[in-house]
Amino acid sequence: MKSIFKNLTLLLIIWLSFGMTNHAHAQDGDQILDGIGETALIARYTFKGNIRDWSRNNFHLNFQGSSIKYEEDEKFGEVLALSGVTNDYLTIPSDAIADMESMSISTWIYPRSKQAGQTLFEFGKNPKNKLAVSPLGLMEDGVFHASLQSEEKQTQVKAIGLPINKWSHIAIVINIPAKSYAIYINNKLAGESKELSIELDQIFDQDDNEKNLLNIGKSFDPALPNLNALLHDFRFYRIALSENQVNSIFENAAKGTSQEGTRIAKKIDELPTFPASHPQLYNEYLIEVPDIEVETSIGNLPRLPSMIEGKYKGQLNGPKVKVIWPADRDNNAVLQVGTYTITGKVPGTSFAPIAKVVVKEPKDISNPIRRLTSFALNQVTLQTDKDGTETKFIENRDKFITTLAETDPDSFLYMFRNAFGQPQPSTAKPLGVWDSQETKLRGHATGHYLTAIAQAYAGSSYDKELQAIFFRKMDYMVNTLYDLAQLSGNKHPDHPTFESDPTAIPYGPGKSKFDSDLSQEGIRTDFWNWGKGYISAYPPDQFIMLEQGANYGGQQHQVWAPYYTLHKILAGLIDIYEVTGNKKALDVAIGMSDWVYTRLSQIPNETLVNMWSTYIAGEYGGMNESMAKLYRITANENYMMTAKLFDNVRMFFGDEQHSHGLAKNVDTFRSLHANQHIPQIVGSIEMYRASSEPEYFQIADNFWYKAVNDYMYSIGGVAGARNPANAECFIAEPSTLFENGFSTGGQNETCATYNMLKLTNELFLFDQRAELMDYYERGLYNHILASVAKDNPGNTYHVPLRPASIKHFGNPRMTGFTCCNGTAIESSTKLQNAIYFKSIDNKELYINLFVASTLDWTEQNFSIEQSTSFPKEDQTLLTVKGNGKLDIKIRVPSWATKGFKVSINGKLQKLESKPGTYLTISRKWKTGDTIKLEMPFQFHLDPVMDQQNIASLFYGPILLAAQEPEARTDWRKLSLDASDISSNIETNGNPLEFVIDGVLFKPFYDSYERHSVYLDFNLK
Ligand SMILES: [Zn+2]
Repeated sequence: MKSIFKNLTLLLIIWLSFGMTNHAHAQDGDQILDGIGETALIARYTFKGNIRDWSRNNFHLNFQGSSIKYEEDEKFGEVLALSGVTNDYLTIPSDAIADMESMSISTWIYPRSKQAGQTLFEFGKNPKNKLAVSPLGLMEDGVFHASLQSEEKQTQVKAIGLPINKWSHIAIVINIPAKSYAIYINNKLAGESKELSIELDQIFDQDDNEKNLLNIGKSFDPALPNLNALLHDFRFYRIALSENQVNSIFENAAKGTSQEGTRIAKKIDELPTFPASHPQLYNEYLIEVPDIEVETSIGNLPRLPSMIEGKYKGQLNGPKVKVIWPADRDNNAVLQVGTYTITGKVPGTSFAPIAKVVVKEPKDISNPIRRLTSFALNQVTLQTDKDGTETKFIENRDKFITTLAETDPDSFLYMFRNAFGQPQPSTAKPLGVWDSQETKLRGHATGHYLTAIAQAYAGSSYDKELQAIFFRKMDYMVNTLYDLAQLSGNKHPDHPTFESDPTAIPYGPGKSKFDSDLSQEGIRTDFWNWGKGYISAYPPDQFIMLEQGANYGGQQHQVWAPYYTLHKILAGLIDIYEVTGNKKALDVAIGMSDWVYTRLSQIPNETLVNMWSTYIAGEYGGMNESMAKLYRITANENYMMTAKLFDNVRMFFGDEQHSHGLAKNVDTFRSLHANQHIPQIVGSIEMYRASSEPEYFQIADNFWYKAVNDYMYSIGGVAGARNPANAECFIAEPSTLFENGFSTGGQNETCATYNMLKLTNELFLFDQRAELMDYYERGLYNHILASVAKDNPGNTYHVPLRPASIKHFGNPRMTGFTCCNGTAIESSTKLQNAIYFKSIDNKELYINLFVASTLDWTEQNFSIEQSTSFPKEDQTLLTVKGNGKLDIKIRVPSWATKGFKVSINGKLQKLESKPGTYLTISRKWKTGDTIKLEMPFQFHLDPVMDQQNIASLFYGPILLAAQEPEARTDWRKLSLDASDISSNIETNGNPLEFVIDGVLFKPFYDSYERHSVYLDFNLK
């Protein structure tokens, strides 16, 4: 078995190195259908005897009539048959319209009547704002009509009407940036308008999904007839399908090959291109890029500097030069002592700097020590700006805390009670989205919720009433979960036989195999057979099926990341234990961890390796993190062993022999799903903390450097690939964000950035490199703070950065959570957590972020009041309360290139303050001492690594977005002065608002309308 596996791995590596664009082992399942990534798909109805949504979203249709009919068809097998009679139509759940950039519908239709006015589908918030498609004509002329209308405007597209008693494929493509509305019939463009000026948010109610109606087979107008037709494979996309994509869907269906033939994503939907040999931005002025020399030790790929100091023409003081180095897939180059060279490239130029790599015998390296620790959330309180206005931090915190306080814990317990067959309290309402009855991820929101209410409790000590509310919620949640967990694998009065051994769980009653059926009728609730300690919002089958090789998908033989969901639940329970000491919370976590240990410790290594390499099904969040934490809390070795059972061997170590992998600085994560893997890295650093095994530190440290230098968008997000075609994946090759990134439908999955910040925070406690906190600040201000709706806690999933994008916010009332809605309630209840750190020996205080706040360092009888309107001003004042000796370490941000002045008690200090370092002030402090920090903001451009003219504009740490009047497909062009870009930039009187060439720029975190984060800059 082992050797077969090795050969397969070898074959795979060979295959990959021949330039294939996808990781087969990572991309199984329903990820890519007809060349289109699943993140683009809202819903898919195949109508094979049911009206279920086959995408992961579970937007199952509702049939409005009395009995639904299917017919056996020669071409497609079982198909849906709509009769045209009253109420014989379907509705898509209204939640489905969230987060749409554009939209497309693809379906096969077999009309059975010529009657005019039949509606294929009609979507909208009311009869005046809607999208309607009538393929058989509105009048007797039989012309195919498609329209989009708002109260003010209307766009009509016409095509030749469909023939009856014959199958036709139609695709309706609404491309908002391109202002086009197209009808494709049988793979041919049959009608198009290029003057579409209506936005989707005029058609749909984005704040209140329930107001939207999504009908298939019926118009909103009761006078119009219902559809009399057969339907097959109806798909709803949140992107504009390209011609190629329409072609793939049509051709594959015609060939009967379905998706299989095109699982490898084609590169589609190209952005504007630029000549590869044309130097852009500062590179146009480059005259020299020096060669470099780096050292490494045997086995470890060198860490090559991403930026090198270059020489520019004349007096030009340009930035460091981005060099793209080839990225090996193994460590063969460094297996012996010696030297070799690597040739890099500078995009758009012929500069080819050489890195001489010296490979040496391994040195004895001392293990990094965790010298610092965070303050508890109740020790740091956010304060208003100097003039009393609320900061963005306070605004966002309060949106979340207020809404969290109003949530009903019974909603978050609903699916747990459902799984255990227990009655619901009369007022209990289930959550929607990924926690609905049949969604295989149900319970995940509950885990995030436990963490969020624990943090909200800890962080709201400024309001005792609010704190009491969160305390009661925690207590109620934990007591209920505890009582349910006690039922598992125990004798029950009604069920004398039971199974307490987690490895001996039988099939569900009346079933002949394990399945993931969570429907009201199909779910098993025989908790007495689930093994001792079991807790989840679904029965144990998904865990067992994953061991048996189940992949990801919506069908009953498939699963959706059972350990991912479990990690959220365990993390939440452990957080509540750590904040309040609630012993029952710890007991529930221990019981389930024992269950996991018992099962996984009996599974062969090969099986585990395959499980954790399975796309999404094997996504386990940070199970390794929770297990390592539990080991620290309990000292029970089993949990450390369990943490190691979650090693993602291929990514961490390359193979089972631990030949290379991230531990040896090999990039093994290109093209993988970002948020599947980042939490595993967070787990790795936690495992290092618990075990002191240096490989786990190296994995985290190497990953961070690569993620930030080779994969990052300017807002701090790292996910969003056009190749492979998945908005949630890392790009196929490092440092090719322009070539392979900027996926349609958005990039920058927000939960991935939540996890990047968590990783960064933890790494900094070991290694006080300022670049870590530079990244933290970037991601916090420009993604996390920017991901929340203006007036409520609605928040982003993907954050699109293509030209003139708009943010979409979901879950404003906390009633239906995606992954990112889950991490959002965590992010915004701990916004204060990284402003200050202290050394574990209490001798040093770190000032990392310039945020109006108070630090109450109770153990040291010391407090700091930070008074500032940052970033609306570029200075801050720290006032000390307390007496004694203390080293205060202050971050000098890398963007502070115009100087960083420190004054103590009004006196300017002579201190070295190099951007991108920490400076130290050692003294005996006394109450009333003040430290004033002045750090004039500068404008700077942050280019995409492989296309330098496509860049973002920053002012100090703040990303500025160009406000756009309407959607667009190309990058907005702007020229700036090469010697001083600020000379073209005017202020408009408002803080952090600027005008360039008539275009208004505002902080990205304050941009709620269409905006461009990346522009096409030219330097004159
Ligand atoms: Zn997410």
